[in-house]
Parts: sequence; C-alpha cells; structure tokens
Amino acid sequence: MTNTAEETVLKQRLAALTLEQKVRLLTGADWWSLYPEPAVGLRRVVLSDGPAGVRGELWDERDQSANIPSATALAATWDEARIEAVGSLLAAEARRKGVDVLLAPTVNLHRTPYGGRHFECFSEDPLLTGRIGAAYVRGVQSGGVAATVKHFVANDAETDRFTADNQVAERVLRELYLAPFEVIVREAGAWAVMAAYNAVNGTTMTEHPMLREVLKGEWGFDGVVMTDWFAGRSTEAAGNAALDLMMPGPNSPWRTALAGAVAAGRVSADAVDDKVVRLLRLAGRVGALDGSEPPAVAPGPVASAATIAAELRATAAAGFVLARNDAGALPLKAAKLRRVAVIGPNAAVARTLGGGSATVFPPYTVSPLAGLRAALGEGVRVDYTPGVRAGTRVPPAAPELLRLPGDEVGGVEVRFLDGVGAVLGTERRTGCAFQWFARVADGVPVAQVAAVEVVTRLVARDAGQYKIGCSGAGRFRLTLDGKPAFDQRIEIPPDMDPAVAGTLPPQHATQVLLEQGAEVPVNLRYELHWENRPAAAATAISFQFNVAPPQPPEAAELDRAVALARAADVAVVVVGTTEEVESEGFDRTSLALPGRQDDLVRMVAAVNPRTVVVVNSGAPVLLPWAAEVPAILLSWFPGQEFGNALADVLLGAVEPGGRLPTTWPRDPAAPLPSPQPVAGRVSYEEGVHIGHRRFLRDGVTPLFWFGHGLGYTTWEYRAATAEPPSGRDGGVLVRVRMRNTGSRPGGEVAQVYLSRPGSAVDRPVRWLAGFARITAEPGTETGADIVLPARAFAHWDTDAASWAVEPGSYQIHVGRCAGDLPLMTQIALP
Ligand code: BGC
Repeated sequence: MTNTAEETVLKQRLAALTLEQKVRLLTGADWWSLYPEPAVGLRRVVLSDGPAGVRGELWDERDQSANIPSATALAATWDEARIEAVGSLLAAEARRKGVDVLLAPTVNLHRTPYGGRHFECFSEDPLLTGRIGAAYVRGVQSGGVAATVKHFVANDAETDRFTADNQVAERVLRELYLAPFEVIVREAGAWAVMAAYNAVNGTTMTEHPMLREVLKGEWGFDGVVMTDWFAGRSTEAAGNAALDLMMPGPNSPWRTALAGAVAAGRVSADAVDDKVVRLLRLAGRVGALDGSEPPAVAPGPVASAATIAAELRATAAAGFVLARNDAGALPLKAAKLRRVAVIGPNAAVARTLGGGSATVFPPYTVSPLAGLRAALGEGVRVDYTPGVRAGTRVPPAAPELLRLPGDEVGGVEVRFLDGVGAVLGTERRTGCAFQWFARVADGVPVAQVAAVEVVTRLVARDAGQYKIGCSGAGRFRLTLDGKPAFDQRIEIPPDMDPAVAGTLPPQHATQVLLEQGAEVPVNLRYELHWENRPAAAATAISFQFNVAPPQPPEAAELDRAVALARAADVAVVVVGTTEEVESEGFDRTSLALPGRQDDLVRMVAAVNPRTVVVVNSGAPVLLPWAAEVPAILLSWFPGQEFGNALADVLLGAVEPGGRLPTTWPRDPAAPLPSPQPVAGRVSYEEGVHIGHRRFLRDGVTPLFWFGHGLGYTTWEYRAATAEPPSGRDGGVLVRVRMRNTGSRPGGEVAQVYLSRPGSAVDRPVRWLAGFARITAEPGTETGADIVLPARAFAHWDTDAASWAVEPGSYQIHVGRCAGDLPLMTQIALP
C-alpha cells in the first residue's frame, strides 16, 4: 500500500512536530475540516458527506451537488463497473468542491428493513455489499479523493444509536458485518474508516479492540480511523485505542487533555505518533502535503452537466427493479397512448435521496411527472393529481411562494443579529431549511449570533388557508403584515437524535386565509436558546421557515385520481415514503406506505386495469395490493435524473436493470429482526440468518426474493458446470450457459448460491457466492464465467480464531434470485 521512501518522509515530518502540534491535528478544526500545519507543509483538509453526492462544507441550496442514486439503488445494479464509474464522478465532484475526504460509502447491512438508514446501506448480503462498496471506493480514490468506509461496525439501526450495545457473536461479525469492511480494506485499499456510535459486545466502537486487532492488525489497514460525529468519548481509552481522529472540532475529549495524558504517561506517545503518521499519510494521498506525491491518478477533468446527467440517468434505470410485469404490461407502447394519468404523492415531488447526513442539494431534480411529460411530448395528454397526502409536516417554504423586492427567483432575506440587535450579516436565500455550521453570512462565527430574522413577502398563488410556521429549538415570533401572529417557544425533546433535531425538528404553525394574489409581508424572528440545544448542535444553527399552501380535502383528491385514472389509457401511480418515515436518526415502526397510499393504488387499479405502480422508497415497504396491479417498478431513491430514467424504462427505450439487493417481505408478520434495544442491548440472535437466509430457514415465502428483478426479455438457464479449485486464492470457477429466449436484446444477473446439507456448522440454507451480469441478443446463447472466492466456502471457526473450510461436497445453485435457482451442480473440496 505504501512505499518506504514515502514512509521515511512521513516519519521526518512527524519528528518536526511538538506534542501540542501533534495533538492539535487529531481533532477537527470545525465541522468539516482538519487543521493545517505549516510546520510540516500540511494544508487544510476538507471532509464531506456522502454517500448520495458530495455535499461540501455548506448544508444548503447554495452549494449544489450532483445527486447520485442512493445506496440501495446502486447495489440493485449488481454492476461493479458502473458503480466504479459513479465513484469517479463523485471524485470529480469532490475536487470541484474542494473536498478531500468523502464520508462514504455506508456498508452496514440490512439486518432489518426497519433500520432507518437502510436506504443508505447497500444490501442485506455481505458479498454484494462488499463488491459494490469496493467498486465505489475504487472509483472515488482513483480521483485522489479518500473514501471513508462507515460505520465500523454493526451500526445497522438508529434507535439509541449513540449508546446501543449490539450483542453479536464473533462468527456472525466475521461472516456478515465485518465482511464488507474486510473486502473493501483489503482489495480496494480504503484510506479512511469511520468508527460507529454504537457499542459491540460491551465496548463502544471508537475504543474497540477490533480497530487495532482486526482492522489494522489482521487486515493491514494503514489509513485513518475517525469517529462518527461526536462519537469520541474519552481521552485515555480512545487515546490508547486505534482511533486516530475525533470529529468534528474544535472541541473533543482530546483537544485540551490528550497532551497532558501523554505527558503523565497515561496515553503512550507512540500511540499518538501512529495516529499523526496516519493522518499525514492520508493528507499525502489526497495531495494535501507539500511535496507529497500527487494523488495516485490525477483527477480527471470535471464532468460537464450533460455528462453527469447522462450517467445518472443510466445508473438510475440500471437500478430500477421491475418486480412484477403481468402479461407484458411494460414497456408501454407510446405510439398507442393518447391519455396518461400520473398520480400519487411522489409523482410531482419525488424523493431522490434519503434524509439526514446523506442529504445533498442537487442543481435540479426531474420528477416522474416532468420526465413522462417530456418523453411523451405534445401529442399525449398527461393529467396529474397527488391523490393522497403522505406527509404530515408543514414543508419548508417553496421559493415560488416568496417574493423580495427585485428578487427574480423568489426567496427570503436572512438577517443575523447579535445580543443588542445589531445586524452581523445577511444572506439572500431560496431554500428555507436552514443549517449553518460554525459560520454564517460568509464568516460570522455562529457563537456571536443571538437571533436570526427571516424577512420576505408571501404571495398567495391560490386562495385559501395557508399554514405558516417554523421548526427548530428556541423562541420564534412570527409577524404577518406587521401584526404579531405567534410567539412560541419550541423545545427539543432531550432524547431526540441530533440528526432529527437538525433536519426534522418539532414545528409550530398558524393558519391564515388569503385571497388569490394577496401579498403578505412576513418576519420570522428566531431567538436561539443555547441552553436547550443538544450538545452536538452547540456550534451550529438550524431551523426552518415553513409554509403549506391550501390543499383540497383528501376525499376530493382521491375522487379526482379515480376520475383521471378511469379516463386514461394508462395510470402511473407513484407512491413512496416521506422523510418522516425514512431518514437517519430513527428507525421505522411500520413498513406500510404512509397515509392512504394503499387505498389510492387499489382505487386506481379498480378503474384502470393498465395501472403501473412505481414505488419510490429507499427500503422495502409493504405492497398489500401487489397481486391487484399488473406492473410494479421499484425505483428506490434514484437521484436527480429520476423522471428521465423512469420515462426511459416505462416507454421501453431502456430495460430496467435492477435486481433486489434485499428481500421484500409480504406482510407485517414476516420473520424480521427488531432494531429496538432491550435494556440498552440489541441481540443479533438470528445469527447468520438475516434477509433471505432467514426466510429460507423459516420456510416463509417473501413477496419478492433477494436477487429478483425482471427485464424486458426472458432467459433460460441451460447448464452450469464447476471447475475444481485453482489459482492462487483457491477459488472455484462456475461456467453458466444461458439463452435469451425473448424478442429483444437484454441483460441478466446470473447468481450463484452455495449450500451444504449436513454441515457441522449452523449454515444458511444457501448463501450468495458469486454473480455476473451478462447481455445477449434475442435467441442467442451466451456464457458467464463466475469465480466463487475461496472465502465463499469458509466459515469462521471461533475456537481456532480463523477461517476454516469444511472438506467435502458443496452444492452450487445457479439462477435468477434466491428463490428461483433452476440449475445445480456440485464441487468437492479437499
Ligand atoms: C452520521 C455520519 C455522517 C456524520 C457527519 C453522523 O450523524 O452518522 O454518517 O457522516 O454524521 O454528517
């Protein structure tokens, strides 16, 4: 990984630093950057979330980023070359935005779809997660930008995530939860890893012996281990552990106390030196050290908007999973369409990414409605209605409802005031969900701000009741047309997760009846109450100005949806989750679609037999009407090009490429683990049986199996043969023959699973061991050579503390998903 000349130079740089200078480097300078150190030629290093784009140092609409599909969508492509290309695109984005270290990918597993950040993780399967994650990291780092594989380890749920103590057997850790980290560190050579908030088997992860023994020891990781944000908890235990960097800064348990602990001999000086060398090594890799070798591959030219759009459009379509397509309902025949109804709460304002730290601000998003309208053109009438409302929050005020003098786009003026009411600075903004970290208005420190005022004019486009309000923690005073409307204190519940407090804080609103065209001067004054704010937010300000325009009663919207569907040749219903049910910071308590979306689908399908349902969620949701509609397309959170990709797929220009990276349960009684701690502990009692493995073990048929997904052609799996172990790593080669039996060219993901009846260890009924994407012309036969790595046959022998392979026979199953494996062959291992 590193060469000795470079290492010598790193050691020389280290020797030039005093203990105080070294310690200063080991805590962030602020939320998103590390201190420069001129004494060793180190410039400021910038970190950014991740993973659905590169947000940069600002958390708002002024700092725009290409919004790539979320992790479940990327994993659904089962296409490493494509994901590596997306990684390179992210590297170019990072370079454009001055970012050196991307806080991505998230490679925790889908232990349960109740897990709130499921959308941000790739898969329930360790092999698929590892391969897609490694491709992502190779792509990002090929541009000289560090990837940060997170969250090490077993951060598979959100409830009490700072304290939950996950009880996971060693074999289960090795075979499932550590496995993606291992492959990414060993094979893709990740430069950074983020230690999780949670504890595993009694020890918090930022101090866990696995950092030294497994990650750095066994796997040879030579990069930086940083904390998740605010996960640094001690000076000494963390200092002596293999943790290298506490984030964010400037305050941390190391900041003022670590030098003293070293001087007193309570933390070893060598441990600190090792951390600093790793930090300098990382800086060298991203080109932040004077005279250090440039990044492995110089960053390529920054991609044009058109190139990014084309790549994101193709990637979104490659991740769409066509879960059901009865009697060839899809693709639609555009030439025969006169009238299309586009219905559903996610049709005009879709979710392109999930909530929380994965949020980025794309330059634009294409909704399903906009994408279909553009693709169908003038000749086809496209009607739209949301049908039902899925969200309950008052949204951040949309710029089209706001006017300031001379303001073309629509927006607000934000004024930052000090303790005596003097204006410290102002911002003109189009977005009304505000989050400032460390500084506001181009440089004013957050700590100087006592109050913030939002000034604008609300323009009533339609007559009716407007909800006008705010979200956040502190005292809010709303003045409308010069008259007080409310004066309200909002408290954040003490147990609220900081991510939720920042992005979905409690709200307060008033209702105002407005005539069409009315213009109302608005002043929202926010007084910060530092004493009530979570410690994590002490160097940040966040709140929202919220406006909901008038809406017809839901019953009227449902009636309209039914009328439009009845009159249309085809009804496309876009249902999905909201930020209220799928975001970082909390787990889901139900897998049902929020609101009356199930009713909507059933009512539309009852009047139009050509109903296509698009499910816009990052994780499985229950589809109780699945058998009642002819076509179901799972879109995930597919990034800014959603609508264009959807039109490509629905109209047949492109085949949907996705295969499920996770099992979709049929009903709420499905055999799924709970993410909820009991007395502070989460027991991973299901062991190695998560996802499809658990459905197989329990003999329960899910709605859609892991690996499932249809294209626009059909395939015959003709033959599979296995060649005995060979090569350096003792892998087994499986040769598969397949035939495209349909009438158009297409692609398929051939999947190989292993089983070992009669094994002496508790094995899954079968488990994924390899896969390959193939394409073929209609009527032609093709082959796939799939290498099963030796590790696919191994189990972790806890007594011997090593990997072991049971000698004897393994069955090899080949097919299109975990529940449909028409071919079988065997291999005997010595
Ligand atoms: C998340 C991390 C993220 C960090 C910085 C944490 O709450 O768990 O994934 O990178 O915040 O935003």
